[in-house]
Amino acid sequence: MQPDSSRISNGSAPPARRRGRLAPEAYIEGVLQGDRVTLARAITIIESDLESDGELAAEILQGILAEAGDSLRVGITGVPGAGKSTFIDVLGMHIVRDRGEKVAVLSVDPSSPVSGGSILGDKTRMERLSVEERAFIRPSPARGHLGGVARRTRETILLCEAAGYRNILVETVGVGQSETAVRSMTDFFLLLMLAGAGDELQGIKRGILEMLDAMAINKADGDNRLEADRARVQYAGALHLFPPSPDGWTPRVVTCSALANEGIREIWEMVLQHHEKMRASGWFLRRRRQQALAWMRELVLAGLEEEFFRNPAVRDRMPALEEAVRTAQATSFTAARELLALFRNRPRLRQSDAAPARSSSRPPGPDRGFQIKE
Ligand code: GDP
Repeated sequence: MQPDSSRISNGSAPPARRRGRLAPEAYIEGVLQGDRVTLARAITIIESDLESDGELAAEILQGILAEAGDSLRVGITGVPGAGKSTFIDVLGMHIVRDRGEKVAVLSVDPSSPVSGGSILGDKTRMERLSVEERAFIRPSPARGHLGGVARRTRETILLCEAAGYRNILVETVGVGQSETAVRSMTDFFLLLMLAGAGDELQGIKRGILEMLDAMAINKADGDNRLEADRARVQYAGALHLFPPSPDGWTPRVVTCSALANEGIREIWEMVLQHHEKMRASGWFLRRRRQQALAWMRELVLAGLEEEFFRNPAVRDRMPALEEAVRTAQATSFTAARELLALFRNRPRLRQSDAAPARSSSRPPGPDRGFQIKE
């Protein structure tokens, strides 16, 4: 039976499914009821590369969409060792225990899928939080597209929201592209820093400083207190030099100690204050809408890229053209044009091959020399 790709939800004919998969309604209901096992299984489908799971994933997402979105999404980044897991453990416990709310922690791990190594490690990093009933912790493997940053984290966020998690913490390691991706899926962006370590060591680029809503200098305890305070003043001065953010929020620089549980509660107060302010000014919704649109475009581009590299004509021709470019027999420009033409099913022909019988009143244009094959 052929899956009907036009079917979004609750149609009559169920699409062909992989063995072991449930009906979409089962996932939708389970997620909406906040069932953690179903939530985890639904995320697995969202993350799956299987063609048959893609359809199921779309149905699940469509089914939970109305219940998603009502949350606070916070991105937390910092180099390995900055104290992210300790911080999130403590912050999560505050949210769960003191505030009585649910929290989902999604880790975006940009480490190489080839080496199998993981910078962020597994969930045992958050020892106390991981055994809490109201906490859901999920590392997202980074694979393939979009700079290797977990490509399904946005959809995972939606699933968690639909399952009743109103606080979403998205954690990533500060190693380049992952921060930009996490920034583009969160409402508040926090950088955890260490006093004393140079900017270079902490991978701090100007671009990252510009994205911040707050910076927390962690490990402000013991002998490190003074230095942390010094760093705070220094960074506050540096951040002040940036033009004000269009949303009207001035990034804050604070100190904290995840280990001693100092300053964490205050940081969450700040996040809530930011949230209130953004909601009142309309920036909250505005940013969310911008993010959703940008993500749609990114998904389209990622889909096109995938199709391009899977296209048989492209795959056949690619090695020869790569060699031609490598040996300077062809320019990148012409080679790319030829591949794109192949992809569009318009193989580039030699001028002499062009069918002379093809009558056209069009003036000679850039398409000359191509035969359009329908
Ligand atoms: P991550 O790699 O960013 O997740 O960092 P971890 O949370 O694993 O912390 C790295 C190390 O720093 C661990 O040994 C922690 O115990 C320690 N650490 C984390 N937060 C603090 C803190 O606030 N103060 C001190 N002194 N050590 C901390």
